[in-house]
Amino acid sequence: MSRPYSVCNRKGSKPATNENLPLDVRAMHRRGYLAPGAYCSWGWWRGDNKEGGASIGCRSDGQSVRLLYSHAGEEVDLRVVLDWTPCNYGGARPWWRCPSCGRRVAVIYGAGKVFACRHCYGLCYGCQKEKPSNRALRRAFKIRERLGDDGGLTTAFPEKPKGMHWETYSRLALKGHAAEWESLGLAARFCGRETQPAATGPASKVE
Ligand SMILES: [Zn+2]
Repeated sequence: MSRPYSVCNRKGSKPATNENLPLDVRAMHRRGYLAPGAYCSWGWWRGDNKEGGASIGCRSDGQSVRLLYSHAGEEVDLRVVLDWTPCNYGGARPWWRCPSCGRRVAVIYGAGKVFACRHCYGLCYGCQKEKPSNRALRRAFKIRERLGDDGGLTTAFPEKPKGMHWETYSRLALKGHAAEWESLGLAARFCGRETQPAATGPASKVE
């Protein structure tokens, strides 16, 4: 078996990205696993079925991460280069350099022997298969992240970061609130408890 962990969906359609061992550099960064000398074991599980899971070892030197795993009985030692770009409001955010094509990406996938970007593996975005409420939630979180907030939607909407133009903030705040309401409204509807009155005007366009 050449691709032990990849799971294709319907015949002829592209496999979804979330079924192919996504390795998100932002998630690793948040947990401190990109610091020089850091080592972690990163795993994937499908529901409660731990037998269907996989795990790899990751060792960082701050500029690259060595991924250690076995593929089809073969030991693989793959070095993935990190790229750090400055953030608007201080600090730096990490990216992977795809080991296959060199693209700067946030996520690489273990869909075959090497970890590579979704372009290289011809994967579709998992979010295309997501429920609309999940998409709205992702948008809401993304906007909060841009405003320097790591918290969930239960905390107050973040204030304008220092240095950001009011115009930019107003635009993001409008989009953020709309996305948060959309995610909550859709989630409530999904549970059969519709709380939102039917829209009377044109729906606000969010991205
Ligand atoms: Zn690539």
